Order: sequence, then structure tokens, then C-alpha cells
Amino acid sequence: MLQQTQVTTVIPYFLRFIKQFPDLKTLAKAEIDEVLALWAGLGYYARARNLHRTAKIIAEEYHSQFPQTVDALQKLPGIGRSTAGAILALSSNIRAPILDGNVRRVLTRFHAIAGWPGISAITEQLWEIAEKYTPKQQVAEYTQAMMDLGATVCTRSQPKCDSCPLQSHCQAYASGAPTRYPISKPTKQLPVKTTHMLLLNNQQGEILLIKRPPVGIWGGLWSLPECPLNEDIENWCQKYLFCEINKLITWPSLRHTFSHFHLDIVPIVASISHWAPPLMESDNAVWYNLAQINAKGVAAPIKQLLTQLSENKRLCLELSSAKNYKKKLKD
Ligand code: SF4
Repeated sequence: MLQQTQVTTVIPYFLRFIKQFPDLKTLAKAEIDEVLALWAGLGYYARARNLHRTAKIIAEEYHSQFPQTVDALQKLPGIGRSTAGAILALSSNIRAPILDGNVRRVLTRFHAIAGWPGISAITEQLWEIAEKYTPKQQVAEYTQAMMDLGATVCTRSQPKCDSCPLQSHCQAYASGAPTRYPISKPTKQLPVKTTHMLLLNNQQGEILLIKRPPVGIWGGLWSLPECPLNEDIENWCQKYLFCEINKLITWPSLRHTFSHFHLDIVPIVASISHWAPPLMESDNAVWYNLAQINAKGVAAPIKQLLTQLSENKRLCLELSSAKNYKKKLKD
């Protein structure tokens, strides 16, 4: 959970997660839906899928015992070299270096390494330094101390050099401008994608949710049907969702930013009069009662839209008075 996410955000998620899955065997036996439901809102859902797969692999192939080498750990889903090192150092006091974002920053400053640390030559140099400094004894304490130093003292924008135990030998401090290190990643403008997301209400006031494919953006989570921009929504709903649209209105768009693109979501709220899929409701489509907003794993912007809808009781009235939805769409 702490990969890419700050401690304060993680704490409530961690507490709920560990209450439901107190050990590896319980997690390995769980359905992925239960895992994703507890992860919903935390983002980077590949972490949850990897954690679940890793628990299953360790339960089935390693008799529920964590492997004890960096190489074996790195073969498990979602575990890279630094995470493998942290697991071994902290859980078993095995000497293995780590190089997470915080440690990378401390080492880059301590040696005043120029250049962006994401470049492979610099990453290699940092691993060599990390390896050299990792002690043979008390490796758990050292590892925790390095992570804490980066998180609380040698922070990104306001390093507390005056209270830092490394100050006397720190080259970035000696340079008088510690925050010049490490150099930031060269910025590039993120592309923008736009999508129509449909909040389809049936006559019971439930909303249609579709399960996303297991891999990719929001993989395995529940989401809203997405109609391509160049399609007529009414025809698309008939063709792919087997339902007739009564009325629809468009809400203001909502931007969600992923690491590699912005997604502009245009929410379309619609009432449907007829739902006749050729097969019974499959495992990948459900009519969702808005009163049970936390029962399904949905991504943060989808939850935001569902909450907005459940709070807006008058929307049904607005829907029934929306006479020319095509015009509204254009607006
Ligand atoms: Fe970071 Fe300052 Fe400590 Fe150097 S002296 S490691 S820049 S906090």
C-alpha cells in the first residue's frame, strides 16, 4: 500500500485490510472482488491484484512461508528489488539493500549525484552505494532508519539538515542547496482522453455497473459503461447494453489523472425503460443499489459520481423533465 501512497492516506485502508485478512492464508483464500473492495479509492489497483496473486503463490507453492532470497522474492508479482530487500531486512534481518524513493533521495543528496536518478547508469550507481552501506548486522534497524530519514528529515522540498545525523558528510548540504538534488524527472505534457460514462437508472432506481477486464486501468474493479465519443448514446445502449433510453442529461465533466494521461469523464445520467439482455445477468454486469455504496470495489471517480447521484434525489425529476437530451448533450 505504501508504494506510491503516503502513510497518512494508507493507515485507514491498512487497518480495514488487516482486520479482514489478518494472515497470508486468509488473503490467499479470498476472492479478488473482496480484496479490490477494500482497496477501492486507494488507486494503483495492480498492487492489490499482485498482493492477492502473491499470497496465493506463497500459500500454494511455498507452504505459506515467504521465500528468503531476493531472487525468489523478485519472481513474485509486484515485488521489485527494493521491496524484496525491505521484506528480507525487516522481517528476517537478512542483509539486502533497499532503494525506495526516500532512500534514493538521501543517497543522491549525500553524494550530490547530478542527473536524474531514473537514468539507468545513475540507478546502477545508487544500487552500488546502497549495497556498500548496508551493514552486516542490525540490518532491520538500518533499513528502517534510512526509510524514516528520507520520509521525515531529508524530505523532498524542506530537508531538515540542522537535525540530520548525516549533515557533517553530506555533499548536497555542503553545496548550500540540498534541494537541487535529486534532479526532477524531465516533465512531459500528459495526453488527455475523454470518455462518456453512463449512469443508467432502471425503474427501481438502481445503476448499471460493469466489471472491467482484469488487467489495465482499474482492472477487476466495477465501473460505469463507457460509450465511445463518436457513438450515438441511444443506439449504442440498444446495441451493446440491450436497453432503451428514456431521457438523459449530461453532467459537467470530471478530470481524473493517471500517471500517464488525464481522463476527462463526461457523465451522462439516463433513465432506461427496458432491459432485455440475451442472457441472464452475468458476473460482469450488476444493477447496483446506491444505498450500498461501499459494497463493491469501484475507483475513486466512479464512487464520486455514484455519491453525487445518490445525494441528488431530485435528479429523477430533472430526468423526467429533460425533453431534448440530444440538445443538452451538445450543450
Ligand atoms: Fe538530506 Fe540535509 Fe541530511 Fe543531507 S544533510 S542527507 S540534504 S537532510
